[in-house]
Parts: sequence; structure tokens; C-alpha cells
Amino acid sequence: MSPRLRRSASGRPAPSAVPGSPRPAGPAGPATGVPAVELRGVRRGYGQGAGAVTALGGVDLVLPAGTFTAVMGPSGSGKSTFLQCAAGLDRPDAGQVLLAGQEISSLGEDRLTKLRRTRIGFVFQSFNLLPSLTVLQNVLLPQRLAGQRQERARAGELLARVGLGEHASRRPGQLSGGQQQRVALARALITRPDVIFADEPTGALDTRSAHEVLGLLRDAVDALGATVVMVTHDPVAASFADRVVFLAGGTLAGELHHPDPRTVADRMLTLSASPSGAAA
Ligand code: ADP
Repeated sequence: MSPRLRRSASGRPAPSAVPGSPRPAGPAGPATGVPAVELRGVRRGYGQGAGAVTALGGVDLVLPAGTFTAVMGPSGSGKSTFLQCAAGLDRPDAGQVLLAGQEISSLGEDRLTKLRRTRIGFVFQSFNLLPSLTVLQNVLLPQRLAGQRQERARAGELLARVGLGEHASRRPGQLSGGQQQRVALARALITRPDVIFADEPTGALDTRSAHEVLGLLRDAVDALGATVVMVTHDPVAASFADRVVFLAGGTLAGELHHPDPRTVADRMLTLSASPSGAAA
């Protein structure tokens, strides 16, 4: 089935399927019109003098709440730097990053850490689950670390949603890679974050598991109103997104809306042959 067909009929996020979660998208739900994430003139460079590298050369980007965006680009185009800056893991040299309308690039480290725990969800290529904790404890970990009330019922419902309702008391080591990534997705959703950043979430998975995870990311957007930003090099993964944004040489190099994998692959080929991004 095409990822397009998995979308809710209206194309808009449906009401929450998780009981007790009336505003699943967090403070910047789709109805508010406030973007989940906004980058304004974000610049980030490394090194000095002759060895200086511009990783991001002034990126302006609005990521509306309740949407699924894929970020692609050739190696060295600035994807990781983009993700780090947008997620408050790194500070731009210039420009602003706004999370649900709040400027985060100038926050102190303590506030930024708290904000990352409560308002941003992360899904990593290598799952990053704690092996000594059960699946349920892993899902609840962001709330525990943030000193929030741990919503066990919600965690159970999210695990059921990702098809792991029967696995709550297992340890990550007893699960397949695809199952571990589904736990990581439930963990990312537990705090109802403003945005979930997924960094090559299917990079370590077989094709079937990858499709399951991508379908669940899509479901998180369509059914739970989540906002997902996914860095990927895989055109099939990108085709699950509403919008694919391309980076080249640290700047935006065009975008596609609801593309099929072939179109994404063609654009990537063009960009790789012309790293300056002239293909936009
Ligand atoms: P991508 O994720 O698309 O491969 P990156 O954001 O990792 O791109 O890198 C963008 C550019 O910045 C590259 O030229 C890379 O070599 C450089 N770069 C990234 N991180 C560092 C760093 N810590 N020190 C020096 N250069 C870096």
C-alpha cells in the first residue's frame, strides 16, 4: 500500500486514539497555527581561518504542527547540524530556533535540558533504549527524568498502539530491532512533545521492520497529531512524509510535497552531482 493511502481521509490529524490525551500534539497543536519548529537565518560553522567549514549557511524553515517532514541531502550537506540545532542539542552561531513559538537558541543549558526532556521526542538509528529497564520503564523514562507524573496507562496504550502491548515487562535485549524502534517511538510520544526528531530511524532495520516503523511515524502524525522531522537518506522512507526538504552545501536546496520514492531518488541524484544545491 502506498504511504499516501495510510493518511487519514481528511489529510488532517484525527482526534487522539489514546484515552486521557485530549491534546496529544502538545502546546502547539495544529489548530493554533503556531509552527512546531521554526528556523530563522540559522548559521553554524566549524573551525577558523583556512579550515573553516560552513555547515549551515543561513537556513529559514517553518515546520507546521501536525506534519511529517523528511530532511535529505548528500553527505556533508548539513543534515546532522540541522537536526542538532533544531533540537536544541547544539547552538547556532547566528539566527534563531523557535519551538512552538518560543525562542530556544538563547536558553541556558538547564532550561534547554528540561525543554528537551519534556517538549522534544527523539528517535535514534540505534534505538538508545536502556537495557536494564523493562520496555514499560523505557517508555516512561522521559517523564521520570523530567520529574513528571509517570503515566503508566498512557505508556501501556502507546505500547499497544505500536503493537507491543504484550511486551511491556520484557527487556530491550529480548526484542528485535524493529520492536526496539517501536518502543523508542512510544517513548518519544509519552510526553506529548511539540516535535519528534527522528535521525535515520530505519537505518538499522530490515525492509519490513522499516515499513512498520515508518507507518507508525505516519500514524503518530495522522492519528495523534504529532509533528515529526526525520533525517533520512532513504527515498522510500522520505515518501512517507508530507514534505521532503533538501539540503545541499548547508543551505536549503528545494522541497517536494507528497513525493513518490522515485522522484525523491532522482532529486537526490541531481543534488549529489551538484552539491552546491543549484538543482532546486
Ligand atoms: P551531514 O549530516 O549532511 O552529513 P553534517 O551536518 O554532519 O552533514 O556536516 C556538515 C559539514 O560540517 C560537513 O562539511 C562536515 O564535515 C562539517 N562538520 C560537521 N561537524 C563538524 C565538527 N564537529 N567539526 C568540524 N566540521 C564539522
